[in-house]
Formats: sequence, structure tokens, C-alpha cells
Amino acid sequence: MNTGIVWFRRDLRLADHPALERALQSHDALLLVYIDEDDAPYSASRAWLRRSLAALAADIAMRGGELHVLAGDAEVLLPRLAADACASAVHISALHEPDADARDARIARRLSADGVAMRRAGGRMLTDADAVRTRAEAPYRVFTPFFKAALPTWRHRPRPAPERLACIGLPASLADAKRAIAAPKPAWDAAFFDRTLPGEAGAHARLRAFLDGLDAYPEHRDLPALDATSLLSPHLHFGEIGPGQVLQAARERGGPGAGKFIAELGWREFAYYVLQHWPASASGNFNPKFDTLPWRSDPAGLRAWRQGCTGVPLVDAGMRQLWRTGRMHNRVRMVVASWLTKHMGIHWREGAAWFLHTLVDADLANNALGWQWVAGTGVDAAPYFRIFNPVTQSRRFDPLGDYIRRWLPELAGLDATAIHAPWEAGIVVPGYPRRPIIDPAQGRADALARLKATG
Ligand code: FAD
Repeated sequence: MNTGIVWFRRDLRLADHPALERALQSHDALLLVYIDEDDAPYSASRAWLRRSLAALAADIAMRGGELHVLAGDAEVLLPRLAADACASAVHISALHEPDADARDARIARRLSADGVAMRRAGGRMLTDADAVRTRAEAPYRVFTPFFKAALPTWRHRPRPAPERLACIGLPASLADAKRAIAAPKPAWDAAFFDRTLPGEAGAHARLRAFLDGLDAYPEHRDLPALDATSLLSPHLHFGEIGPGQVLQAARERGGPGAGKFIAELGWREFAYYVLQHWPASASGNFNPKFDTLPWRSDPAGLRAWRQGCTGVPLVDAGMRQLWRTGRMHNRVRMVVASWLTKHMGIHWREGAAWFLHTLVDADLANNALGWQWVAGTGVDAAPYFRIFNPVTQSRRFDPLGDYIRRWLPELAGLDATAIHAPWEAGIVVPGYPRRPIIDPAQGRADALARLKATG
């Protein structure tokens, strides 16, 4: 019998899965595994992952197979698995994150020494980061020209899921490594799954529901009270649906919203493209000019921001939505990130780390790009123009105050004029800060002064 291992990571689906497809073509029987290597404090995205794995295991079982969830170090477990299952190859989908890719290459060398091949397939991205380059053969640093060059290369015909999966059991020698991810206790993730369910079926149901209202996307996507965006980000992060499937469905649906929505998929492509070409930008300034920027240390301020107690209603509503649901609307992400990095002068890395811990769609590439874009330290830098005034943003994008009322019930009694800046109307709400922890005008002036100091 010719056995192959499929090592699932962030490709938690069965349809349109090139690695699984190749494994099925190359072997008589498969060993399907997920290796849980996370020993960090329990994050929101881990709560999503737990359910996503349960959905994948059920989908595999329906096709006659079995998914084995193991806990441990993949570098140790995979060679043992391959040897004890007499497997000739391990199949993976590329992650396109430089550190993870380098580790995969290390594991491939280790396996190869034992005569086991590591076969890497695509499926996570639409863009070949090496092929899309400027005329001068350099990588793009600005989104729009990148998108113009990348879009014509995006061709995709999604493939169906296999009907049957012939699998072997886990070798007895590895039974001690088998361990499902435990549920969070208490169940603080209860509100995470109100709008969309982890797993491949949940991803497709969400896509279908979103496409019904796609025509309104360009007009409504910036209004956080409407929740008019696709909510596909955690599904895409965990690979419960592939970007090619989403692209194809949007193209087939067509209409006035399709172009704008496909451009957002372009931002995801750009984030991974930037990370692959500039790996250090995951944690350091993309533009080293900003390495001298004098960030402030303000632990109490950072705590107030995390807890949604800054006294700025739109910022606080966003931070509370994040804590309760593991999500935050994109417009509000920009506003809270600007408030932290510009008005409060706190390093974007602090905000990025909090987002990675609390977002269900926590994604190294998208998160680093988003934070650096707002902080003005990244590609396409426009630091002076991106000092979002949270009150103006609030009046413009949440004009009736509905989003704020949903997440800050203590302000529910305020009308649409006062709710964006109660202190301006002299209103004091019991249990809510009397004034913003930083005066918005002063915070803006301080941010400009800090930026000027970097030359
Ligand atoms: P839609 O508007 O429906 O967009 C469709 C898809 O396009 C999204 O699911 C996402 O995969 C992609 N996309 C949309 N906008 C962006 C963007 N600006 N950058 C990259 N991809 C995008 N997104 C994450 O997936 N994970 C993160 O950790 C993350 N951190 C962010 C941090 C900051 C400070 C900012 C400003 C943005 C961040 N984003 C992140 C991008 C964006 O906010 C989310 O992708 C979006 O809100 C997800 O909602 P949606 O699926 O309904 O988006």
C-alpha cells in the first residue's frame, strides 16, 4: 500500500484543495492530521480553530475518513508519523509566511533524509509573489499598481471536494500525541458565532448570503452599524474557503459591487505579497525612516484602550465589539488604530499584538499591513494624512449612533447629536469617562510634532 500524509494547517476544507487532490492521486490511502503547536494563552482565533477542526473532522468522517488532531512539535511528530505509517510523502498547502515557509523547508529536509518527500501545493493565494513585479523587476510598494498588475493573473476554476476518502488509522505509537483542543472555560466565545459558523459549510453559507446583497457593498461597506461586509475573513484565514472560490463566485455574481469586493481580496493578496518581499515588516517598521519615531510608554492608557474605556465613544464601541465578538468592522479598526498610534502615541506593535490575541481573523500579514498603513510606517506611507479624527469619523460613518449604542449600552440614552462626543455637549454619563483620556485636538498636535521630529 502506498500511503501519504496530508498535514492540514490553514487549509481546513476539502473542496478546491490542491494538496489533498494531489495526495489522492498519488496514494492508495491517506493519513490526515492536524498538529496543534499553540502553547500561547488561549486566543479568540483558537476558539474559532477549535470549531473549524470539529467541522472538518465531521466532513472527513462523512466521506469515510478520519482526521487526527495531535498536540506537539510538528518537526518531531511528522518524521515519526511518516516512519510509523510507512508513508512516502507529506502533502501541505503553502502558508506564504516567510518564517513558516522556512520551517517547512527545514522539515522537508529532515523528511527527505528519511526518504520521505514533502509536497507543497498552492491554494492559499491568487498571486505568485515572484511573478508580479514592476517594469524595473522590483516588487510593488503601492497597492493600486500592484492590484492592476496582479488582477489579470488571477484565473481560477474551483475543484469539487472528493466523494470518498480512503484513510488509515493513526499508528499506535502516536496515540499518546492525540489531543483535541479544549473548549474555553468559561465559554467566553459564546457571541463569536452569531453571524457565521466556522468550517467549510459555514464559509459557503456566509458567501452565498453576502453575495445576495453584493450590489449594496460599495455604498454600505463603510457603515459599521449595517454589518454589510462579507465577514469572510476568519474563513479565509483558516482556509475554510479558498480565495479562488470567493473570486469566482463574485465574478459569476457580477453587478456593481463585484469590482469593489474583488479589490478587497486584492488587499489580502497585497498584505501577503508585502510580507513575502519584506519579511521583517511583520514586526518592524516597513519604512526604517520611522525607526526614530518617539513612541510613548503609557501602560494605563494602553489598558484603557484595550478595555474600551478611552472616553471616545466610537473607539470604545469598537474595542468592546472586539472583546465580545472577536470581530471589529474595518472602518472602526482604522479609527481605533489611529487613536492608539497617533493620538496616544503608543507603538503599533502593541495594538497589533492585542488584535492578534482578540480577533477571530487574526492574521499576521493582514494585521501587520493594516497597523502599519494606519500608523504611517508601512508601504504607501502617508503618516500626516492618516490622523483620523474619531469624532468626525463617528459622525460620518455612524451618523445615527446605532453602532455606538449597540456596544456601549451606557450611552444608549444619548441622541444622535450628543452620542459622538458627549463631553462637547457637557453631558456626563454615569459609569463612562467624563472626557477622553487624551484631548483629541492636543493628541493630533502631539502626533504631528512626533512625526515632524522624524524628519
Ligand atoms: P470584506 O470587506 O468583506 O472583505 C473581503 C475580504 O477581503 C476579507 O475577508 C479579507 O480577507 C480581505 N480584506 C478586506 N480588507 C482588507 C484589508 N484592509 N487588508 C487585508 N485584507 C483585507 N484582516 C484580517 O483578515 N486579519 C487581521 O488580523 C486584520 N487586522 C487588521 C488590523 C487593522 C489595524 C486594520 C485597519 C485592518 C485589519 N484587517 C485584518 C483588514 C480588514 O479589517 C478585515 O479583513 C475586514 O474587516 C474583514 O471583514 P470582512 O471579511 O467582512 O471584509
